[in-house]
Amino acid sequence: MANWQYTKGLHDIGNGLYAYLLPDGSWGWSNAGLIVDGEETLLVDTLFTVGLTQDMLDIMRDAAPAAKNIDKVVNTHANADHIWGNQLVKDSEIIASTGCAEEFDHFLPETVIGMMAQSKELGVLGEFVEHCFAPFDFSGIELTPPTTTFADELTVMCGDKTVNLYNVGPAHTRGDVLAHVPGDKVIFTGDIIFNEGHPVIWDGPIANWQKACDRILALDVDVVVPGHGPVTDKAYVRKFKGYLDYIEAESRKGFDAGLSEWDTACEISLADYDTWLDAERVLGNVHALYREFRDEGEAPEVMPIFEAMARFHKEIILPRMQG
Ligand SMILES: [Zn+2]
Repeated sequence: MANWQYTKGLHDIGNGLYAYLLPDGSWGWSNAGLIVDGEETLLVDTLFTVGLTQDMLDIMRDAAPAAKNIDKVVNTHANADHIWGNQLVKDSEIIASTGCAEEFDHFLPETVIGMMAQSKELGVLGEFVEHCFAPFDFSGIELTPPTTTFADELTVMCGDKTVNLYNVGPAHTRGDVLAHVPGDKVIFTGDIIFNEGHPVIWDGPIANWQKACDRILALDVDVVVPGHGPVTDKAYVRKFKGYLDYIEAESRKGFDAGLSEWDTACEISLADYDTWLDAERVLGNVHALYREFRDEGEAPEVMPIFEAMARFHKEIILPRMQG
């Protein structure tokens, strides 16, 4: 297995497949993919801002002239860091799951721009918003939703390459798509895989996410391009699934002992994951699991969970890192 470098920019996977990586993979620093065959191109995800997406498209066009025209785009899910550059490929067929299309406009650029402008008045939340989003320029974003949606599976062609799209959500979000290129043994996972970073369970149930990992593990793939972090392989997918199993089991222990979400999140040892970014997401994940244990059907409002993670970051994670 090749040891993939984790540097900003385009990485040639071979045979017309590319990964575009944005270290360090933390909040908003997402990956994308490009598939080229002959004159046809398929882009997997756009990026968080128009500027980042424009830079990426320019670099893709330099590497593969066919990318001057992107024929198809797959949005793996509706998180902003995978869709807010869509306007630059608005003439393409934009493909997503129905769940992704449904929540495409649930988080708007105005919201993050407003929070950034008010960050000084927002206390701990404001500090966290600055921590996560200060590097990004959110101006000029025009939401550009999918033009083609599917419920479970869709096979699309890029030239002679078959690309199988599997909706494995709701898991990370309401609709999470894996893009598998069987002929090249490559899979683009979106945020079903975070490499060297804590995932965040916005929707769940976690069982769907664990099944999604099993689905990847059952495929004949050599290269796994995650939604965040370095390019990897199935060995890491196994480790990542182990994290989900572990967080679920630890949350169940805390729940059964009557601990609050906060106290359980404080109790969970992250010794096996101490290099992973964004450890405040553990609290969000405990909240998501408690909702499952309580059988609360509705997905939660995102903002209160985000605010709780902000506080957890300041009061628990930062002191640990400095300690
Ligand atoms: Zn993401």
